[in-house]
Amino acid sequence: MQLAKFEAKFFNGNSSKPTKTNIEIIENEYLKFTVGSKLYRFNLNDVQLNTLIARNSKRIYLLNNSFLELSSECNVEIYFKSSNFVSNIIHKIENNLLLICLVFLLSIFTLFIINYYVIPTTAKTITNSISEEAYLKIQARTSNKYLLDSLFPYKSEISSSRKNEIKKYFLMHCSIVKNCPNYTLIFKKGGPKIGPNAFTLPDGQIIFTDELINISTNDNELVSIFSHELGHLRYRHWLRQSLQETVFGILIVSLTGEIETIISGVLTGIIGNIYSKDMELEADKYAKKFMETTCIGTHHFNAILTKLNPKDIDERYSFFSTHPQLNKRIMGQSTNCI
Ligand SMILES: [Zn+2]
Repeated sequence: MQLAKFEAKFFNGNSSKPTKTNIEIIENEYLKFTVGSKLYRFNLNDVQLNTLIARNSKRIYLLNNSFLELSSECNVEIYFKSSNFVSNIIHKIENNLLLICLVFLLSIFTLFIINYYVIPTTAKTITNSISEEAYLKIQARTSNKYLLDSLFPYKSEISSSRKNEIKKYFLMHCSIVKNCPNYTLIFKKGGPKIGPNAFTLPDGQIIFTDELINISTNDNELVSIFSHELGHLRYRHWLRQSLQETVFGILIVSLTGEIETIISGVLTGIIGNIYSKDMELEADKYAKKFMETTCIGTHHFNAILTKLNPKDIDERYSFFSTHPQLNKRIMGQSTNCI
């Protein structure tokens, strides 16, 4: 008769207080142990072994939430070959450096595929499936008067008449385009960190900094940037980005336990300027169509992009920091305007 003995702690499922016992595994078929005067006997097919990776114990789950806890050094897995195939595979991986490396690389590759393809596609489908009415309700809930002032603490120094001139010019072009998104134009001074830039907030506010207005040569250059920001609104990019980062954050938290990740994901989504390169190119595409419809030459977009020099401002806030390379964004000449 084949016999293996292990020291273990027995938890009866009702109390967190364990009772020490010795378990015997007989003929690779069943295990038995005694607690007090009571003898327990289980077929190995009726119990479940959990090797509890990264912990210093292993558990054998019995009936009615009761379980046995063994030291991680007990090589009990070999008796559970038929009933705990997965546990045995995991145990083999844990003890083989090459397999650990392979599983690690496979995990990174899987995370990459999930982050760059599965989550963005799913987020896009969900965002596009939300009705206009429901979207407006979500958008209204994101409105936060403190967010704008905390992100842009400096008041605009552009004169009221110049602001009205720009507002009128933008509105005139927006009215030509079919389904031009609802927006509110806000002027702020960027300051040393933000500099010449434009942003779109989740609630539909488009912010133009004084510095951006000042480096523009003409208002058509400003319209070209304005149309790019409208593209972010049109395709609901902030919602897509928030969904993507939140889902990916939850995934990372479930794998690593790092709660900070999810918080940063939600916040970057709300701030709304940290869009993926795909979204930036999508906004550029919208801008190109907008400019063609309103007869504004795309060379204006190319001209202002070239003027936005990221070296002069904080990289984190740069118009280019999350944007695709300039040469990928330069637009071809408009064809339907003279
Ligand atoms: Zn953008």
